[in-house]
Amino acid sequence: MSLWWSLVDHPVFTPGTLDRPWDVVIVGGGFSGLWTAHHLNAWEPTLRIAVLEKNRVGSGASGRNGGWVSSLYPIEDHKLLKHTTAESVLSLHVHLRKSIDEIGGFAEREGIDCGFAKGGSLTIARNEGQLKRLTSHIEPEYTLLGARETRSRIQMRGALGSTFTPHCAAINPAALVAGLARSLEKRGVSIFENTEGLISSSNSVSVDGNNLESKFVVRATEAYHEGTRDQVPIYSLMIATEPLPPQVFDEIRISNRETFAEGSHLVTYAQRTADERLAIGGRGAPYTWGSRRKDASEHHRKDHQRLREMAKDWFPILSKFDFTHSWGGAVGVTRDWAPYVRTDENYGEMGGYAGDGVALSYLAAGAMADLILEKKTDRSDLPFVQWKNAKWEPEPLRWLAINGAIRLSGLADKEEKRTNQSSGIMKILSSITGQ
Ligand SMILES: Cc1cc2nc3c(=O)[nH]c(=O)nc-3n(C[C@H](O)[C@H](O)[C@H](O)COP(=O)(O)OP(=O)(O)OC[C@H]3O[C@@H](n4cnc5c(N)ncnc54)[C@H](O)[C@@H]3O)c2cc1C
Repeated sequence: MSLWWSLVDHPVFTPGTLDRPWDVVIVGGGFSGLWTAHHLNAWEPTLRIAVLEKNRVGSGASGRNGGWVSSLYPIEDHKLLKHTTAESVLSLHVHLRKSIDEIGGFAEREGIDCGFAKGGSLTIARNEGQLKRLTSHIEPEYTLLGARETRSRIQMRGALGSTFTPHCAAINPAALVAGLARSLEKRGVSIFENTEGLISSSNSVSVDGNNLESKFVVRATEAYHEGTRDQVPIYSLMIATEPLPPQVFDEIRISNRETFAEGSHLVTYAQRTADERLAIGGRGAPYTWGSRRKDASEHHRKDHQRLREMAKDWFPILSKFDFTHSWGGAVGVTRDWAPYVRTDENYGEMGGYAGDGVALSYLAAGAMADLILEKKTDRSDLPFVQWKNAKWEPEPLRWLAINGAIRLSGLADKEEKRTNQSSGIMKILSSITGQ
């Protein structure tokens, strides 16, 4: 179980019968599905909406993630600009930043104690290779901090500098997902847990072989949309410490609960939690053949151990404390790393957030609601709307390329640590991933 769910009571729902006419049936009870219901209900409170969740709400990535409510977007602007206008790209960034505050405002209004703290985010360079990469391109809304300024915010061993953006908040995501689902039920949305919805090729949905009557069907299953070439599940693993005494944070700081990461090639991410732990995550676990998600890969022993070692390398004081939780999950990654919100007549699908889905799913769900209800808003023109993704390569190419890329990223980090220079391996990797 994730740290997050160990701190939160699971809501209980009483949705009544499924066997009635619906305006919208949403398959998937994570942030995408629930925020879609939220935005639909905000437009038209009388809509009859059912959310089907095959397990419990937030049992997927939404209740297991790093809790960064960030304005990150998986692909860079120069790639988006090949497909869309500069205005649309600018609007995307404005909307993403606004989404952070809207999520915080929603939690406050609804009294959801998810520990929302908007302290911004630091990416820290610990060797010259990382520093060169961080300084080579400073995005707007990011500030470059020197070694002294970085250390006044976070005492990470070997920090040479960092970038800082104010546009990120830390939360307990399970508390948010539980609170969101409770709020939806109060507003008349029906949430069916332990209910698997099967979407057929004719875009209708059935449960246990019975077709449901619905005007519109949404697939909001992200990394659980398995075994296809549309997207692949990439594993991200997390660990958390026991609650740490004040003297630890007197030493390592993070006083504003800034989220933070090392500027390594393999993605890392971390936060100081509201109950004074460190929750730390990273990628690196191997991709599983055929784009099938495997529970075992979400609990990859070696990678959890690697994360614990990394945490102690960042903050040597952690060797005196216990790591009490370890868990993982999968993120959905499309071939071009582009998220999507698509509709076609009475069917819609969304996902491909590539690990940036906490704020992005809120925005994507808003766009999905606009499309379903045919509302023309400035969300309808955002780059991910009606985006057509390329297909992933067939196996075994896919398996070889993705696992090769993961392995090379890890080797490139080791090379940069050893040589204190930018990695040559990365040049090869960029040509494989296009990233
Ligand atoms: C370890 C980890 C760390 C991450 N850290 C961050 C972070 O810090 N910041 C960030 O922005 N993003 C992060 N992400 C990504 C983020 O969590 C996801 O992008 C986001 O939660 C996706 O939400 P979702 O609702 O689309 O998918 P999910 O939360 O995965 O929900 C999909 C749901 O669909 C259900 N389902 C699947 N098939 C069916 C079916 N047939 N019938 C009914 N239900 C079905 C599943 O059980 C699941 O609950 C992280 C992800 C992971 C795994």
